[in-house]
Amino acid sequence: MLTPTHHRILRSLNSSGPLTRAELGSQLALSKAAMSGLTRELIEGALVEETTSVQRQGRPAVLLDLRADGAYFIGISLLSRPAQIALTDLKGNIFARAALEFDPDPERFADNVAAAVPSLIDGIARERLAGIGVALSGLVDEEQARCIKSTLLGWQDVPLAQLIGKRVGVPTFVENDAKALAISEKHFGEAREFNNFSVISLGGGIGSAHFIHGRLYRGAHGGAGEIAHCTIELQGRPCRCGKVGCLDTVASLNALAELAREDGLQISSLSELEHEATNGSSAAIRILHRAGSALGLAIATVIQINDPQMILIAHQEKSFSGLFATVMQQAIEANVLPRLSGRTPIRTERVDNDVWSRGAASVVAESFLNGLI
Ligand SMILES: [Zn+2]
Repeated sequence: MLTPTHHRILRSLNSSGPLTRAELGSQLALSKAAMSGLTRELIEGALVEETTSVQRQGRPAVLLDLRADGAYFIGISLLSRPAQIALTDLKGNIFARAALEFDPDPERFADNVAAAVPSLIDGIARERLAGIGVALSGLVDEEQARCIKSTLLGWQDVPLAQLIGKRVGVPTFVENDAKALAISEKHFGEAREFNNFSVISLGGGIGSAHFIHGRLYRGAHGGAGEIAHCTIELQGRPCRCGKVGCLDTVASLNALAELAREDGLQISSLSELEHEATNGSSAAIRILHRAGSALGLAIATVIQINDPQMILIAHQEKSFSGLFATVMQQAIEANVLPRLSGRTPIRTERVDNDVWSRGAASVVAESFLNGLI
């Protein structure tokens, strides 16, 4: 049985491991004797292992690290069709993956999940499977159990975690896609070293999530981070949410495609629109300018409100470096106070099905590391 102190050690190794016993002890303010007993128990429990000795301060030192096979997590991404299901380990590596048929009927979809699990975890000790996480585009309750609303899936108040959990028999969580991605970046990716950062996901729609003081910020009702529906143009276009001028109406990839179509441009991706702009299409240049200005203004507002250490833009394109990105960067610089100007690194990362599945799985990994499951 693991205690809260065992979990503190696991979290330290996850965020800054591998570490020596002395480094861990000093990070967690634990005595040498306490560290020795606690780490022995974690090693016996097959969650921690000793790794190669290294020279530190002239002497060999034994490092402790998480064991990748200490626990396994299933992640399901509902962001593509078919949906994706993957098995990850305690270090965020993907072990197995499969396509998963999506069914708009939540009961039938939960049946599909239950049918897919046995082959996915083939060869893994069942007791090492900690749980299942599902990432979807939409609003999720603060218990990470119900999909309150997803326009994309046509779901309203769906208790998905319960439907899947009772079929598979493991703890199950549901999470908004951008929030799941931020959790994944914090534990396994670009943001491991940061306690304050924001993720902006740029896809068919736009999402965002914020880590503040090392924790995902959910807000009072689970709705924090809905940057897509910030009003960015006061007299703007109608949005699917019922408002007008939302960021989503000018800077999401769906909006770019629609705006391009209205201007007679036949494009199926951002890179094609960038290509049109490079070739001198004034419509493409105008659309990309408008999108870059809007996204940059929204990001500047995030910087102004939260002052994050880093902003990560997750996109689906081969690269995010054309006119859209350039104007966005200029708009960020133009709209933050001079004192904050240029102080927030903007990183970009290409996301694919694996990234979303890992994001979903990391929601369970986080609960595991926090000792909640
Ligand atoms: Zn809206």
